[in-house]
Amino acid sequence: MTTEVLLDPAAVAELERSFRGQLVRPEDPTYDEQRRVWNGSISRFPALIARCAGAADVIAAVRFARASGLEVAVRSGGHSFAGLSLCEGGLVIDLGLMKGIRVDSVTRTARAQAGVFLGELDRETQAFGLAVPAGIVTHTGIAGLTLGGGIGWLTRKYGLTIDQLLGVDLVTADGELVRATESENPELFWGVRGGGGNFGIVTDFEFRLNPLGPIVLAGPILWPMSESPRLLRFYREWVEDAPDELATIVLHRKAPALPSVPPELHGKPVVVVACCYAGDAERGERVIRPLRRFGAPVLDLCAARPFVQHQAMFDPTLPHGWWYYFRSCDVAELSDEVIDITADHAMRMRSPVSTFPIFHLGGAAARVSDEATAYNGRPARFRFNINATTVTSDGFDDERTWARGLWSALQPFHTSVYVNFLMDEGEERIRQAYGTEKFDRLRALKRRYDPANVFRHNQNIPPG
Ligand SMILES: Cc1cc2nc3c(=O)[nH]c(=O)nc-3n(C[C@H](O)[C@H](O)[C@H](O)COP(=O)(O)OP(=O)(O)OC[C@H]3O[C@@H](n4cnc5c(N)ncnc54)[C@H](O)[C@@H]3O)c2cc1C
Repeated sequence: MTTEVLLDPAAVAELERSFRGQLVRPEDPTYDEQRRVWNGSISRFPALIARCAGAADVIAAVRFARASGLEVAVRSGGHSFAGLSLCEGGLVIDLGLMKGIRVDSVTRTARAQAGVFLGELDRETQAFGLAVPAGIVTHTGIAGLTLGGGIGWLTRKYGLTIDQLLGVDLVTADGELVRATESENPELFWGVRGGGGNFGIVTDFEFRLNPLGPIVLAGPILWPMSESPRLLRFYREWVEDAPDELATIVLHRKAPALPSVPPELHGKPVVVVACCYAGDAERGERVIRPLRRFGAPVLDLCAARPFVQHQAMFDPTLPHGWWYYFRSCDVAELSDEVIDITADHAMRMRSPVSTFPIFHLGGAAARVSDEATAYNGRPARFRFNINATTVTSDGFDDERTWARGLWSALQPFHTSVYVNFLMDEGEERIRQAYGTEKFDRLRALKRRYDPANVFRHNQNIPPG
């Protein structure tokens, strides 16, 4: 195996002498566990996994990789759809042990190390009724999510995750630690807010915090999937004037066999509007009432509940190890054509565990200037994340074909695409995700911080 050729045992032993974390080699009993990523369809065999305990370990690992000529993959939460945080035969710099979080409720700021999951950050911030807007599944890594932009339940109210980012500490390809904020290395700070891990390894994030809950009015309301064309026509009018506090995600799927879902619904095709009202619950009741009264929902679980509980709602339906394939696109509106294509293709989903969220965007995220950060697509109104899922490899190819079919049928309506929802789709798609102007600006930044493209296992912005 290439791993044996590339690794110099003396160099590894030298690294290990001062390393505070843990080095995992292919012969170690935990190797298989440590090389696993969230998407079970991806399996690669790195030569070495460096589980860093702090910034000093990250610096040492980068210098070791450079000196050894090893490919580098960087891993925090391991949730890259395409498994970009895992490489074949190279070094995985794993920040998963770096779990430090400090909340300052007076200045309303929080520091989080790169290994923190969304649910862990919420746990600490919600103790003070505060929150960072982030994603919708608690086991996602704050690092990769933030570096791509970060959308979720609070995007309309408080913007993208990067809109609350105050600064980062980052280890460059030369193994130097630099800080990036609005005033310190501002071009780098612009780039890391959407440009992913292209410029270095972020070890620490500093966020502004916002008041939230801790009780919010939230949860899913379900109708039979056959109602989808009618429901979506109602929905598009209803969200048109929605206050920023209201976040909704539409899902088509077969009802999961969860304790909160009555057994007679299990496996039945449903269309779901999942809601979260990030404001006064009474006002939220009034805002959500017309939705509740539309048609005859088969289940209404929208109720006052702790935000952290709501955040965990999708966790059981997106577990580690299942096989996942995604196609994503933004559309400007839910036109009749988009609705009919969506409803039609939803009915053809075969797998009992596939689902595809359509995020309603806009609000605070759309009011930030498009130039302010590298993230592209602030004007996007609705974001499809078409997710073909199977529990094992059985049926995966068919389900993937279904996802591609829906994505292709929507192609005439595509506007932008979110970089964190890309698979391994090639440079042209990455250019589309940023738009040519931002892509060129990011390339110039890449030439400055990583001219040798050491950090290329990501949605890569090549330097030249
Ligand atoms: C179940 C699930 C739910 C999701 N929900 C949402 C959502 O609601 N909203 C949303 O916006 N996105 C969502 N995503 C997408 C998510 O933002 C991306 O998959 C993101 O890249 C995950 O980050 P991670 O740290 O877990 O992943 P990793 O696989 O560890 O890393 C992802 C990428 O970032 C790079 N990277 C990781 N850590 C660092 C670092 N510290 N410094 C530099 N580069 C780094 C990696 O090299 C890799 O290219 C979801 C993904 C999953 C699997």
